Amino acid sequence: MTPASARDIRKLGHECLIESGAGEASGFSDAAYEAEGVTVVPDAAALIAQADVIVKVRPPEPDEVARLREGQTLISFFYPAQNAALLEEAKDRGATVIAMDMVPRISRAQKMDALSSMANIAGYRAVIEAGANFGRFFTGQVTAAGKVPPAQVLVVGAGVAGLAAIGTAVSLGAVVHAFDVRPEVAEQIESMGANFVFLDFSDNQQDGAATGGYAAPSSPEFLAKQLEKFRELAPQMDIVITTALIPGRPAPKLWTRDMVEAMKPGSVIVDLAAERGGNCELTVPGEKFVTENGVTIIGYTDFPSRMAAQASSLYATNIRHMLADLTPGKDGVLVHNMEDDVIRGATVVHGRAITYPPAAPEGA
Ligand code: NAD
Repeated sequence: MTPASARDIRKLGHECLIESGAGEASGFSDAAYEAEGVTVVPDAAALIAQADVIVKVRPPEPDEVARLREGQTLISFFYPAQNAALLEEAKDRGATVIAMDMVPRISRAQKMDALSSMANIAGYRAVIEAGANFGRFFTGQVTAAGKVPPAQVLVVGAGVAGLAAIGTAVSLGAVVHAFDVRPEVAEQIESMGANFVFLDFSDNQQDGAATGGYAAPSSPEFLAKQLEKFRELAPQMDIVITTALIPGRPAPKLWTRDMVEAMKPGSVIVDLAAERGGNCELTVPGEKFVTENGVTIIGYTDFPSRMAAQASSLYATNIRHMLADLTPGKDGVLVHNMEDDVIRGATVVHGRAITYPPAAPEGA
């Protein structure tokens, strides 16, 4: 929570507590919370002991789950598919767990969609990191000291993070090219002032669309065509930002060693898929390094944390909306309505049962 969101949460009839120092890295002091009527407690253990609802960013540590008790609700990123043991433990403890990463991607839930709010920050920050490591202007200039060409930027994957990166790079004056397997994003890319990279692929057009707007794996023929296109673009690109992901799979390898080797010295690759193994063959998750031919490869896995104040504000708003939906009477009474699609979708443990994965919608 931020001090501002605490004010709104209190209007829902809840009392607020915060772990001392929790807002520090985002510029929110304990005193700022206290000024909004929030009680500051010394540590997380004290918080878990006292609170009915515990809100976190990261999935809980095993010892935190072990301290949950009957009737308590935990709200955080949880990645239930990768955290089976934590699900079991939370179930045995009788707690309820709401996974922010499982909020369904329907219009009504957009205000709670923390995956999108964090991806938006990551996309923006990717361009800022690229710029800080690129020794030239983004925008073209004609100056008394010479003519400067605009930077050529390629964004691979135009989901939430990719579109944010496109918007940021365009606004800095770069010439932006973008590729996605889902053809429906072409219009969005072009409306932002970027060029959609089309593949000449006659019998199976860019058709990677699967359910819920997510991508499906490409056919080998399509992938080959895609890599051929990237090979052609590599020597011309100054900055490559990759964001391609397919739910539940490792990141597809789309930017190969020979493409890196074909890039000009001083070029920058920012791999937003690093946490899932990376789209670039040479990415080292969590690291930044320069290749022998002078290409900087950035594989940080904590882009939202690098904009902590912004990430906290947006996540706090997502959480405040989740709490508002859980408190329909604005009376401090939590109503866990499993008939509500959004609450149902995000709830992974409830009533001493694991409720993940939710049943597929009818007709799916
Ligand atoms: P994501 O993070 O899962 O993936 C990023 C992008 O990579 C996607 O656009 C995907 O198509 C692309 N990709 C996958 N494989 C690729 C490949 N081999 N080559 C190139 N690109 C590849 O995606 P995301 O940011 O979570 O967004 C997915 C979709 O969901 C978007 O259309 C987004 O607008 C939509 N969405 C809808 C809502 C809503 O309706 N409430 C909310 C959030 C997102």
